[in-house]
Amino acid sequence: MASVTLQNLTKSYAGGALKAVDGVSLDIEDGEFLVLVGPSGCGKSTALRMIAGLEEITDGAVWIGDEFVNDVHPKDRDIAMVFQSYALYPHMSVYNNIAFPLQIAKMPKSEIDTRVQEAARVLELEAYLKRRPGQLSGGQRQRVAMGRAIVRKPAVFLMDEPLSNLDAKLRVQMRAEIASLQHRLGVTTIYVTHDQVEAMTMGHRVALLKDGTLQQVDTPSNIYNKP
Ligand code: ADP
Ligand code: ADP
Repeated sequence: MASVTLQNLTKSYAGGALKAVDGVSLDIEDGEFLVLVGPSGCGKSTALRMIAGLEEITDGAVWIGDEFVNDVHPKDRDIAMVFQSYALYPHMSVYNNIAFPLQIAKMPKSEIDTRVQEAARVLELEAYLKRRPGQLSGGQRQRVAMGRAIVRKPAVFLMDEPLSNLDAKLRVQMRAEIASLQHRLGVTTIYVTHDQVEAMTMGHRVALLKDGTLQQVDTPSNIYNKP
């Protein structure tokens, strides 16, 4: 596990005319679940993608633990990312979908098996390991995507609107599942959403972003229960 530190994180587009992320500084503690919330276009995804290394940083710095990672390749950052589109491989079994990142890393088969079984147990997917994604419900597919992230035992989880494609009922269920999973694993998590209910209910702290700048960082109750 690791803390994440953002220092004056900035992303400019259009030759500097647009600052999608504008001087964001934030310390996310080891084991913390931080929800980064704000309206569409406020810079949430851009910020998350810079932390992941998927977007070039215009200015500022990102640390994962005490490692300065601005120039570290995404594959070499100790993180795993979960997106709203699950990006599962339809022709592969659930087992192989979860095992895939470990197979790419050429981990020994016995170790892969141990990790996949452990992830399947944590996510209650043991009965579905032989199925293909098309034979699963939406919630199960989302759990497979999380399984693929947790088998790597990353220090940091980055989630970008993971529930936005699910129907309302399933979204309620998955909110609780993700919060519970984060709690059990204790993995430092940055969760991006435009949904205020998710911000109110899921994380330890909420960071409110508007027009690329941080407005407020506090506990959900301090932000949302103010008179
Ligand atoms: P959010 O995730 O909060 O919806 P984004 O991070 O996707 O916001 O976008 C923040 C701002 O940056 C928006 O104004 C968006 O239009 C702009 N933006 C994002 N990507 C690009 C790009 N590749 N080129 C130019 N502008 C972009
Ligand atoms: P949810 O309400 O969570 O979306 P569903 O009603 O879609 O769940 O699915 C209920 C159960 O049926 C799940 O256990 C799922 O694995 C199974 N299931 C759904 N679709 C298929 C399918 N095409 N083939 C086999 N099993 C399926």
